Amino acid sequence: MTTNPPKHDNSTQVQDAAHHLHPFTDTKELNQKGARVITKGQGVYVWDDQGNKLLDGMAGLWCMAVGYGRDEVADAVSAQMRELPYYNTFFQTTHQPVTTLAAKLAELSPAHVNHTFFTSGGSESNDTVVRMVRHYWSAQGKPDKKIIVSRKNAYHGSTVAGASLGGMTYMHEQGDLPIENIVHINQPYWYGEGGDLTPEEFGLQRARELEAMILEKGENRIAAFIAEPIQGAGGVIPPPDSYWPEIQRICDQYEILLVADEVITGFGRTGEWFASEKYRIKPDIISIAKALSSGYLPIGGVMLSDRLADVIINGGEFEHGYTYSGHPATCAAALAVLNIMEREDLPNYVKNDIGPYFQERWLALGDHPLIGESRIVGLMGALELTPDKSTRAPFAVKKGTVGLMCREFCFNNGLIMRHVGDTMIISPPLILSHAEADELIEKASKVLDLTYDAAKQAGYL
Ligand SMILES: *Cc1c(COP(=O)(O)O)cnc(C)c1O
Repeated sequence: MTTNPPKHDNSTQVQDAAHHLHPFTDTKELNQKGARVITKGQGVYVWDDQGNKLLDGMAGLWCMAVGYGRDEVADAVSAQMRELPYYNTFFQTTHQPVTTLAAKLAELSPAHVNHTFFTSGGSESNDTVVRMVRHYWSAQGKPDKKIIVSRKNAYHGSTVAGASLGGMTYMHEQGDLPIENIVHINQPYWYGEGGDLTPEEFGLQRARELEAMILEKGENRIAAFIAEPIQGAGGVIPPPDSYWPEIQRICDQYEILLVADEVITGFGRTGEWFASEKYRIKPDIISIAKALSSGYLPIGGVMLSDRLADVIINGGEFEHGYTYSGHPATCAAALAVLNIMEREDLPNYVKNDIGPYFQERWLALGDHPLIGESRIVGLMGALELTPDKSTRAPFAVKKGTVGLMCREFCFNNGLIMRHVGDTMIISPPLILSHAEADELIEKASKVLDLTYDAAKQAGYL
């Protein structure tokens, strides 16, 4: 079984193997297979150069919220590039796209969040977070508050700081990470780690690991806690309801900054503009990227609460910035995307229309004999593959084997789903229609049957 179309005489594929290094990829293995060449996108679909039409259940990499082929985004970028393709914001200079976007973000974000520092993506945003929170405490005469607490299996990007904040041990192994003063507590992953506890008991227990870490290291040394409101790349893991209120209590009680990495959960994915609103947390910092521009151009940002912004603003020069902080064309792309989201009321569409419609059908996939749990919030969902529903047991074969089989069946049947180990995850474009939702479910259902049969045949069940 191969995921990709058989190697063919295609200059793109040949060039790719000869000169291009892919992210998170076993290059030798890929070059033997040949990369799938994606040629165009429209709405929720992409096409490859063999004419296969694929329903993009991952919205690219979580980003393509408004769908492919939006001329108005291209037009806005084109106009901006003709007028002012670039200027920096270092020399006490600014421009209209960056100020308009910053003001728009202040309007859309929770009330206490009114300032944005711009980056080129999520990893850069979290690099900025590390600098920002340490600077914040130093500026207040508490330079010892340096430690940032994160979580195992978190994903916060792939730069040195991003990967350090992240809790992916296989990433830490390459590159001598994490850097100093970043520590990790356990994740609130009830399905995989909850044992006999109820989800609520387990959520409290995992939240209280933050308190234990603070007491162990000393409140005077802990700067911040960072987390995705719902873990994304770790396998779409929404925490039990008891988790976030307890985390908020602990951050308040011990004067720890709360950083919400909303790179995936921001901009309507959960049915709110920000998942922080959904979980009723009050972050001091919100990292953003991905859906902010729906991937049309690379842009990210770090949004600050008023209390944090006040200290940064009055703290002298912040020795940090990127050449492309507030790039005019990327800001124009983001503005055009946010315009679409507002005009089409996408967060509300997810909350009250396509969300509930799709969720009901997605959750029903949980009845399949291969599925141990199906879960979904807004339009981000997961299916846990298991050989034994009743015990939530992992497969005896190497983790990820069945997940990869399932992903390959997906691609070969016109559906893009991703696998994280033996967890299948989706995050389709927010513009998904009812008919497209039905198509996605129908394809997923067929793929589960194919995976079940193949896993059985291979002796994994
Ligand atoms: C994707 C992601 C990042 C990294 O963003 P890049 O744009 O790839 O650098 C950071 N945090 C979360 C939660 C993400 O999902």
